[in-house]
Amino acid sequence: MTTSLAPRFHAVQQQIAEAAKAAGRDPAGIRLLAVSKTQEPVQINALHALGQIAFGENYIQEALAKQPNCSPTIEWHCIGPVQSNKSRLVAEHFAWCQSLHSLKLARRLSEQRPSHLAPLQCCIQLHIGDEASKSGVMPAEALALAEAVVMLPNLRLRGVMCIPPASDSVPEQRHYFAEAKAVYQQLQHHFEGIDTLSMGMSADLSAAIAEGSTMVRVGTALFGPRTKR
Ligand SMILES: *Cc1c(COP(=O)(O)O)cnc(C)c1O
Repeated sequence: MTTSLAPRFHAVQQQIAEAAKAAGRDPAGIRLLAVSKTQEPVQINALHALGQIAFGENYIQEALAKQPNCSPTIEWHCIGPVQSNKSRLVAEHFAWCQSLHSLKLARRLSEQRPSHLAPLQCCIQLHIGDEASKSGVMPAEALALAEAVVMLPNLRLRGVMCIPPASDSVPEQRHYFAEAKAVYQQLQHHFEGIDTLSMGMSADLSAAIAEGSTMVRVGTALFGPRTKR
């Protein structure tokens, strides 16, 4: 229902502002990424019309099917797993890839990025917490990958992204986010232009902001519960 979008959007903005204030941070330093997986173009366009610019999609085919019916001024972020055979679609149809997990993928994305587009803005996805199912680079390996990524001509490394294990405990949430923040700071120390610490979702965005998140990725709190794919 597009009618409930505006109140949800304002509530999320309010929550971000309150978490920033509690952490002594400027809310302007925290971007909102609207996670629009499973949402139809009518809802995406309605939220865009309210002023939301950046939208994140997990499933590449789903995103490509929707993009022609969405506003051309949307900034698309790929936040889902990218298999090698899908890298060209990401290079051609997204502004950002937040799920960079290997040098092989990075090289392909750089080679396949069309020359008329700006460099692909990238975050290295970190594996945080010990759930074997989660993808991403181990924190100890992030610097080595970053060193190679910054040499690639058509990628621009912006920072790191993480999806820690879901937890109801705020101290546990903060513990995971602090691990990602340490890697982010390490990259900032070594490279220019590292300004994105992408962490926090509907259920844990306040904890993420307390630990320094600069981009929260929010789906459910903006659009309502998702119907299962
Ligand atoms: C689905 C998803 C989100 C948003 O999750 P919500 O709990 O709906 O806010 C954020 N990041 C990634 C990588 C996701 O897959």
